[in-house]
Amino acid sequence: MRIVLTSSEAVPFSKTGGLADVSSALPKALAALGHELWLITPYYPQQAELNGLAKQIQSTEQSITITIGHNDVTARILESRIPGTSVRVFLVDQPDYFDRPGLYGDAQGDYRDSCERFVFLSRAVLEICRKFDIRPDVIHANDWQTGLVPALLKIEGHRYGLERTASIYTIHNMAFQGQFWHWDMVLTGLDWKYFNWRQMEFHGQLNLLKTGITFADMLTTVSPTYAREIQTAEFGNGLNGVLTSRREDLVGILNGIDEEVWNPATDPYIAENYDHTTVSIGKPVCKVALQKAMGLPVHMNVPLFGMISRITSQKGLDLILGCSRDLADLNVQCVFLGTGDPVLEKGLMALAKEHPEKFAVKIGYDEALSHQIEAGSDIFLMPSQFEPCGLNQMYSLAYGTVPIVRAVGGLADSVIDVTEANLGKGTANGFSFYEYKSEVLFRQICRTLGYFLDKTTWLKLQKTGMTRDWSWKRSAQEYLNAYQQACLKRSHGH
Ligand code: ADP
Repeated sequence: MRIVLTSSEAVPFSKTGGLADVSSALPKALAALGHELWLITPYYPQQAELNGLAKQIQSTEQSITITIGHNDVTARILESRIPGTSVRVFLVDQPDYFDRPGLYGDAQGDYRDSCERFVFLSRAVLEICRKFDIRPDVIHANDWQTGLVPALLKIEGHRYGLERTASIYTIHNMAFQGQFWHWDMVLTGLDWKYFNWRQMEFHGQLNLLKTGITFADMLTTVSPTYAREIQTAEFGNGLNGVLTSRREDLVGILNGIDEEVWNPATDPYIAENYDHTTVSIGKPVCKVALQKAMGLPVHMNVPLFGMISRITSQKGLDLILGCSRDLADLNVQCVFLGTGDPVLEKGLMALAKEHPEKFAVKIGYDEALSHQIEAGSDIFLMPSQFEPCGLNQMYSLAYGTVPIVRAVGGLADSVIDVTEANLGKGTANGFSFYEYKSEVLFRQICRTLGYFLDKTTWLKLQKTGMTRDWSWKRSAQEYLNAYQQACLKRSHGH
């Protein structure tokens, strides 16, 4: 198949979260299966510089001009490849929109033109297809930033030679919807007739996530459990009704992990490489290295908890802070890596200040340290309020780091709780709970520590996690099925 994937972030060009991992790993896996892939994403010069990408990005000598509202806006088109693959990447270079310190930001502040920036990206996708004569079978858009793409394709696709191209839209997080005041409808360049409650409007505002959901031929989200959850009021963020009306076209596909990047046997960031046969030898070396790197006392037998995450209430940090006193009474160590909500950051830093021998916190984004935490920790904490898929629990499982998770979304689909029955079947690989309460999390932590002392069972849990197939190959096959369904729907004039 000929597939164009578009997304507002993609590794190694940019990243704020899991979306960037998926946007590069999925095309890579699809290309490895023999398909022809293009990726279209913004060029964020400040990120490219940080990641040392200057040499890998070239000019195409082409530019595009798009009318946004009353202005004609031009962008240069740069090109690259996803490293080590045949996937051709087009980078949309529009400095007014994308030459900024961050990718997204304060909707009232420096990033108040977010709608305009990503309408531009969405229109650029169609323009690039025309300019480079790409006639894909499907265009795969992701999250609100490219939510306009399925609408543009359906309404204006014929103007770009894309009348036969199907669209598929993936929801990575229902909490971010791209909601803007109604006058931003003018920026989209689409007729006001689409600004109605069945299509692009939501409570009087323009909603780009809803737009994607309404117009795409097929919808996917990033785990089977999340696909069910978002049809409910609790997880649907107001769009549960819209999703329920499209449930026939909605599938949940668990993300994979990029095994070239997240593999303890080859990981260049960690102190000692290991696999499931050498985990008991390699992991302790990584643990000591982590304790040293984070300034914690080196204790082999003290259980070490790790957490890497955006610091937001979504990730359950309030639960952790809620039981931190009890945690501090135990003979354990914890390392946290992340950035986000300043109030929660302060809470974590205060904890580290009060108990420097037990808690270590690094505020910031640090790729190398994230690998070292996965390899060096015994137990990984991920008590999310909601979790569309979650990648860190899968990295943890692949690294023999036993996760404690809340059984929601992709966490429920990847972490199999330690019960007698699951231990008997050999499927148990971690610990999970449901009730969103600090004391329930703390009970799980205590239960986990009980098993940590039982070295035989612990090793079995580690090996079960490490030997399951977390690769993108499996997910890529499921995406292909969804692409084929989208093409069928498109050809039947859906
Ligand atoms: P989300 O996309 O909701 O942030 P995921 O678990 O799906 O959560 O993906 C998060 C990704 O970002 C993982 O690859 C994780 O390792 C990475 N990550 C998050 N915060 C940091 C950080 N502070 N430093 C390094 N990597 C981080």
